[in-house]
Amino acid sequence: ELSTLPIEPLSATMTSEEVVAATKQFNYGTWRYQKSWNPLHVVDAEGCYFTDAAGRRYLDFSSQLMCVNLGHKNPAVIRAIQEQAATLPYVMPGYATTTRAGLSKLLLEVLPAGLEKFFFTTSGTEANEAAFKIARMYTGKTKIIARYRSYHGSTMASIGATGDPRRWPLEPGAKGQGFLFAPEVNCYKCPIKHTYPGCNTACADYLEHMIENESDVAAVVVEPVVGTNGVLIPPPEYFPRLREICDRRGVLLIADEVMSGWGRTGEWFAVDHWGKDSGGIKPDMLVTAKGITSAYVPLGVCATTAKIAAYFDDHYFAHGHTYEAHPMTLAPAVAAIHEMQRLDLVARSRAMGSYLGEKLHALKARHPSIGEVRGLGLFWAVELVKDHGSKAPLNSMQDKIDGKVAVVEKVAAEMMKRGVTIQAWISHFVIAPPLIIEKEEIDFAVDALDQSLGIADEYVASLG
Ligand code: PMP
Repeated sequence: ELSTLPIEPLSATMTSEEVVAATKQFNYGTWRYQKSWNPLHVVDAEGCYFTDAAGRRYLDFSSQLMCVNLGHKNPAVIRAIQEQAATLPYVMPGYATTTRAGLSKLLLEVLPAGLEKFFFTTSGTEANEAAFKIARMYTGKTKIIARYRSYHGSTMASIGATGDPRRWPLEPGAKGQGFLFAPEVNCYKCPIKHTYPGCNTACADYLEHMIENESDVAAVVVEPVVGTNGVLIPPPEYFPRLREICDRRGVLLIADEVMSGWGRTGEWFAVDHWGKDSGGIKPDMLVTAKGITSAYVPLGVCATTAKIAAYFDDHYFAHGHTYEAHPMTLAPAVAAIHEMQRLDLVARSRAMGSYLGEKLHALKARHPSIGEVRGLGLFWAVELVKDHGSKAPLNSMQDKIDGKVAVVEKVAAEMMKRGVTIQAWISHFVIAPPLIIEKEEIDFAVDALDQSLGIADEYVASLG
């Protein structure tokens, strides 16, 4: 029987100022100087919008952390959470549940072919952690090659595999981790100074050279479309070549689709864009999280091939969590995937994405601070540069570590005054709205960006 005790709403006991003050006093703000943290008190969210305590409504142009793909308050996902809570909130992962079996069968339908066994976690970080451990146990080798402009998570191993400078304060990482970095694939500003297509994907040759000269390489981990570090999209030949290199060298290929999965790029998964005429690219493991539940509950998954799975039939699988395959995280994933299918959101991401892309390209023509816009589906970056020749960023990661407010952050703050939120990172924006976004909402958000970019244009002009 449900308790009849009234639950006093917190809002009756704390003012908004007190909520913000308590948050700052008792909690950590991530990836920042704590004194620079001034969190917005958010009280409600629906569709593509959320509302702060002062009643201001914001259009969310980056789906929070590029994760609320279905938008807020999807009734089917909410119902799945409620029903699971009322039926079986938790059992340990050693037991079978209908929810886990059902979600696993559904994953077989939507994941790239060949990925047939799943380990469920409660974050993308842990899903990568599982992939790294599985790669080591399965191959008996140690090293993992990632790329510089990448993010793979925040635990000691996953931050160790992260190429971007969020790794710096944690160096040298956990002892014996064995993570190495290849240059990122960035045809706008190639780190090894080649030009596509004349380069013949020299970046893939570079990576092979590393494998050849390192020995003991268990796996290569890549974000098929790099997320936070600027929606970097490799050219068509890259993935087929990388797959071939990994096969020839006996190295596993791990696709980190934590951000790029679930329709974000206009395919179910970003790897689905490559090798279409040869049956698709088949990663040995695919790691995902975020959009799998639209972030309503924390869920990650590491999907492996049947071949990898079979190895553990006779070898000890040395991995597990209390919250692994937690029923409360799995039931909403089933509902979220069904909603994606019902609303045909992968096709919608493609259609709305090309509309958004046209508008962003038009912005580039008007704003000298924009070096490049690039994207796939509803996943776009707008990269700001000091000048089009050097393509130098407006700020560096060192500025961030030094606590300096980046120009992109000033632009984002201006956009917020106009009722739009956007993710700003170093010298670019990551635009990744909920896949349910309407054209008028795209118009409104791009207008806000257009009106706010003056700050960056003036900065660039001031450099002379
Ligand atoms: N990999 C990628 C590509 C990501 O974008 C993220 C999160 N931004 C992670 C891993 C880590 O996921 P989580 O924050 O859920 O641990």
